[in-house]
Amino acid sequence: MLLPPLLHLAIAFAPAPALPPPVVAAAIVEAARLWAPYGVDVRPAPPGGPAPDAVTLTVVAARPTAADRLRAPGALAAIEFDAGGLPRPEIAVYAGDVRDFIAHARVLGASDAQWPRAMREQILGRAVGRVLAHEIGHYVLATRGHAAHGLMRAAQAPDDLVAPNRRGLGLSQADVARLSGRTNLGPAPEAGP
Ligand SMILES: [Zn+2]
Repeated sequence: MLLPPLLHLAIAFAPAPALPPPVVAAAIVEAARLWAPYGVDVRPAPPGGPAPDAVTLTVVAARPTAADRLRAPGALAAIEFDAGGLPRPEIAVYAGDVRDFIAHARVLGASDAQWPRAMREQILGRAVGRVLAHEIGHYVLATRGHAAHGLMRAAQAPDDLVAPNRRGLGLSQADVARLSGRTNLGPAPEAGP
């Protein structure tokens, strides 16, 4: 089921440290595909200023600090919450860690050393996009919580980040309900008499 967009998000990758433009472009396309079925429109921020009709999320291709590693071992990205418990519109993606994490995954029977450069950028973009989509989930659902399965699971397997299909990367029923409550538009899926 495809809902009309309820929420518009403009993704602005910070210029430094830079990721190759094809990786950034592929990441935003991937995050957009994962969120479109839930009425969340994800697109690149326009150059030179915030989009007037969208919430801008800034994405930094950061390296985790030692404190970040202690707080969330193995995390591939992070989003900060303010003192009131609301997420800030800033996401750190640990792109180098994502690259290492997927290094031994196989796509179409080949591992990364065998991938041509354009394919490597496409696959890294896909993986970064899936990691980004998870953090977008923390933002739009306004929760640090995780689901047992799907996009909001606490940890993904390398193959789930690189697989050509998006099976197993959906939202749980509870998260769908939470999302429609948050945006205050449309009935919750389980609404009844
Ligand atoms: Zn998470």
